[in-house]
Amino acid sequence: DLSHNIILYLEGISVSFDGFKALNDLNLYIEAGELRCIIGPNGAGKTTMMDVITGKTRPDTGSAWFGQTVDLLSLSEPEIATAGIGRKFQKPTIFPNHTTFENLELAMAGDKAVWKVLFARISSEQADRIDSVLRTIGLSDKRNVLAGSLSHGQKQWLEIGMLLMQSPELLLVDEPVAGMTPQETERTAELLVSLSGTHSVVVVEHDMAFVRSIARTVTVLHQGSVLAEGSMDQVQNDPKVIEVYLGD
Ligand code: ADP
Repeated sequence: DLSHNIILYLEGISVSFDGFKALNDLNLYIEAGELRCIIGPNGAGKTTMMDVITGKTRPDTGSAWFGQTVDLLSLSEPEIATAGIGRKFQKPTIFPNHTTFENLELAMAGDKAVWKVLFARISSEQADRIDSVLRTIGLSDKRNVLAGSLSHGQKQWLEIGMLLMQSPELLLVDEPVAGMTPQETERTAELLVSLSGTHSVVVVEHDMAFVRSIARTVTVLHQGSVLAEGSMDQVQNDPKVIEVYLGD
């Protein structure tokens, strides 16, 4: 039974803003460990979909489940984060006047006051965990550098590291390579691919070369529902998809 492997289950989701259907009977199924890319023209409903998953927007109809047992529509935004869904927005929310290490320390502590966290003694297990995340995101050599002085790409990786400190099962990543150099883009692809397997990752991205380089399965949204789904080659050659992108 394949449904045992589904970590995120959206069915029949509709969201209206003043009568306009931003999502229109959307169905989406993400498998555990999968790296899925969501593409689609502006206004297709990608952001609204992420907002529904994280509890920021409530759908008018439909159901949304995380794993077999967690009904996302019954949880608040903070409860959904605690349940294991982490979201990375495009705009970094790092603490620029604290070091990379301290940023991860703060992320591990959740929403405790900054001064309380930084004056507390951390255990060697906690320090090891932070160092392990630093290695994952490739910033071990930036451990004691102020986050504000990191490059654009490094800030984005730090932000992913901050999410990882909360041990999410599902990572939602919004336009991870916007504004990155080609080298940073390549490292981001490696990072996201390395996180899949142990995590499920859903990426919204406009950079098609990047999407091609990371995704096994691509979902194309259009007018609030799924227009096409499959490998990059499959969706790229789908006449419905070609029509939508030519008209964009
Ligand atoms: P995408 O992320 O794919 O560009 P969005 O989910 O941001 O698409 O938007 C889908 C549609 O819903 C757009 O037409 C947008 O203008 C509209 N929309 C999104 N959020 C709101 C809102 N809070 N109020 C009114 N309309 C909205």
